[in-house]
Amino acid sequence: MLNNTLPKYFDPRKYANQKVALEGRVALALMPELSEVLTSNEGDAVVHLDFRVDEDRRYIATGSVKATVHLECQRCMHPVGIELGVDLSLGFVYDEDHAKNLPAEYDPVVMTEGEVILADMIEQELLLALPIVAYHEENGCNPMALKYASSTDDAPDDEIKPNPFSVLADLKVKKS
Ligand SMILES: [Zn+2]
Repeated sequence: MLNNTLPKYFDPRKYANQKVALEGRVALALMPELSEVLTSNEGDAVVHLDFRVDEDRRYIATGSVKATVHLECQRCMHPVGIELGVDLSLGFVYDEDHAKNLPAEYDPVVMTEGEVILADMIEQELLLALPIVAYHEENGCNPMALKYASSTDDAPDDEIKPNPFSVLADLKVKKS
């Protein structure tokens, strides 16, 4: 178990110069943009970052972030837990212009007044790692929800629906 309390803000230059190794948890509840797309923002992101100054005097951090997030399954509309794991290779820069000069292997993180808000930085990484649509694994859907979704007999009468028996007949024809 990791119980380390991570700082809310940090100075990447200081951390890089001191070769700080950061390891701990950041609550998903601190990430409003991410929380909005999740069915629940309970839980934490587990963060591991090693800071250093590279050969070109850049402030760098490499490591990973892992989190289990809950999205709405697009088949049964119930929450499905998705494990996200992102390898991080971050280059801390003063502004967007500096970001353009960063080698491609580094994701730029722009410092504000020399500091970075840890939860904001982690949130951006997790947002990029989210799948576009989420589904349970095969047969993992909520059976009650599926049953309910397929028995929409109380739908408006003017809605044109294929006759289920004609669909069955089609299947029989195709099989033979
Ligand atoms: Zn499902």
